[in-house]
Amino acid sequence: MDMNAIGKVVNVLGHSRNTIAVTGAGISTEAGIPDFRGKDGIYTKLGENRVMNIINIHAFNQNPAEFYDFHRKYFSFPPVEPSKAHKILSEMEKKGRLKGIVTQNIDGLHEKAGSKKVIAIHGTSNRYICMNTGCQALYNQDYVDNYPAAVPLCEKCEGVLKPDVVLFGENIKDYSQAQEMITSAQVLLVIGSSLTVYPLAGFVKEFSTFYQDLIIINKGRTQLDHAALVKIDGGNTGDTLEEINRQMDLRGF
Ligand code: NAD
Repeated sequence: MDMNAIGKVVNVLGHSRNTIAVTGAGISTEAGIPDFRGKDGIYTKLGENRVMNIINIHAFNQNPAEFYDFHRKYFSFPPVEPSKAHKILSEMEKKGRLKGIVTQNIDGLHEKAGSKKVIAIHGTSNRYICMNTGCQALYNQDYVDNYPAAVPLCEKCEGVLKPDVVLFGENIKDYSQAQEMITSAQVLLVIGSSLTVYPLAGFVKEFSTFYQDLIIINKGRTQLDHAALVKIDGGNTGDTLEEINRQMDLRGF
């Protein structure tokens, strides 16, 4: 563990009145969910183009059965528990050290770990919404798992149900709130994101143009390593966050 870098992070977080965490797929790999671009990720296994040709809104509208086949194979996450990193972030929020989280993840693990202020800009994969604009009823995973056909339909209006995740070609959720939360932060703590997916990467870039206190905890390169005050690369992310939190306790922050 890089104790020098951790000491710096503790100092910066300890003096911040408004720290926001930005999380990506990398925070959930320690919970057992592969990221997209890592060695077990679907981009690596199937090729980015093939995946993008399926998980876009036009493909969904044209052939929901093909989409659901893919969704069931690759996006129905097993019922995993939050990782240590998710739990520490939740504890940091309770202790007033973190004001909120903006996440790209669709696994719902921050909420499951007890974090309260979470903006999930790409939605949630185990929730389903009726595509009929006059209806938009919501359904849970059980309803879809027990539905007797490949494409689940709304029991109220027979509209097609879509996982409540943002597909390519759709707008992200809570765009303005996410942008505001990130750009008005005093310290930004990025965890497990390569910062290649827009618009989130753009919000972080905007933040880093005006402020210095960007901290990145990520295995491997990110697009904004050059702008980070501290970059921690490697080791177990849960352990790193636990040590940061422990030192903040010790120093009375
Ligand atoms: P990404 O795949 O671009 O980047 C993840 C980064 O995390 C990589 O740089 C990887 O090296 C790093 N990483 C992997 N394990 C790590 C660990 N233990 N500690 C620290 N870093 C680690 O992911 P992204 O930037 O979040 O973008 C991918 C897109 O895929 C997102 O839009 C997201 O919605 C979606 N996605 C979500 C999930 C999920 O909900 N868990 C999983 C896969 C993909």
